[in-house]
Amino acid sequence: KAKSDGRATYAFYSQELTTYARQRIELTTALRQALEHGELRVHYQPIHNLKSGQMVSVEALVRWQHPERGLVPPGEFISVAEENGLIGAIDLWVLEQACRQMRSWLEAGHTLEFVAVNISTRLFSRGRLDLQVAEILARTGLDARHLELEITESAVMDDPDSARRQLQRLRDLGVRLAIDDFGTGHSSLQRLKSMPVDKLKIDRGFVAGLPADGKDVAIARSVIVLAHSLGLSVLAEGIEQPEQVDFLRRNHCQLGQGYLFGRPQPAEKLFLGPAPFYAKALAS
Ligand code: C2E
Ligand code: MG
Ligand code: MG
Ligand code: MG
Repeated sequence: KAKSDGRATYAFYSQELTTYARQRIELTTALRQALEHGELRVHYQPIHNLKSGQMVSVEALVRWQHPERGLVPPGEFISVAEENGLIGAIDLWVLEQACRQMRSWLEAGHTLEFVAVNISTRLFSRGRLDLQVAEILARTGLDARHLELEITESAVMDDPDSARRQLQRLRDLGVRLAIDDFGTGHSSLQRLKSMPVDKLKIDRGFVAGLPADGKDVAIARSVIVLAHSLGLSVLAEGIEQPEQVDFLRRNHCQLGQGYLFGRPQPAEKLFLGPAPFYAKALAS
């Protein structure tokens, strides 16, 4: 009896795995076609200066405009793209769109400091990202200082020596560098101090509980102080409540992004309509 139960369980799991594997293969095929057929989109989320309230920059975030499923968020396809290697092509495509868009915003007279683009660990550690970035900047005519690349802790920590060289080459081009989702990976402070980066982005997991949760308060304060002590700037992600902004301003966090200021949206919507109510309240 026990034996047949075991077999049934095994059969159940292997069928599940097959379904799972098949879904991943289908997703890979669909994603490759999405790239070829132009189904990917770039949305932009405002980044605000928390002191002045002004929108000062934007982050580019990829979406998939699926013919049947509608707008698919990156959480549903980025990890598959990381496994099957398509992530590099996706990131470079997003990078080029974002640079072109930024150039046209600047030409239209908008005052944005930079556009931030996410770079997967896989693309970052693959080789000469700096050469690919230089090529895209040349092709789109965007000045390097208007581009920020967001990398994760794991990209920086896994192979610190080669990461440091890669970061330095990118920085020599003149682009800015940020560590995304700071605090969620396993950063070593020893390594962090030797990395040529400009900014830490506090993960929204630590912003969510501000200002009531004592542990989030302790972590957010420490990261802000750490960043400033290392001469880095600091941004808080996932701001949804005015009380979070009050806390962050009191603790000298310069930059923030989150639904309170604006959701990621298509480029053509970014400068339409009045500034968000809250941003105006900050400025007054
Ligand atoms: P991320 O880079 O940390 O981007 C911030 C994410 O938080 C975005 O999710 C954004 O929509 C969401 N967010 C912003 N403000 C709030 C808020 O107030 N509340 C909540 N609950 N969420 C907020 P999104 O666009 O779904 O992207 C998820 C992740 O997918 C990104 O996290 C990034 O890691 C990855 N990703 C997005 N675009 C790209 C890309 O072009 N390349 C790569 N490699 N990764 C990307
Ligand atoms: Mg990011
Ligand atoms: Mg982030
Ligand atoms: Mg995040």
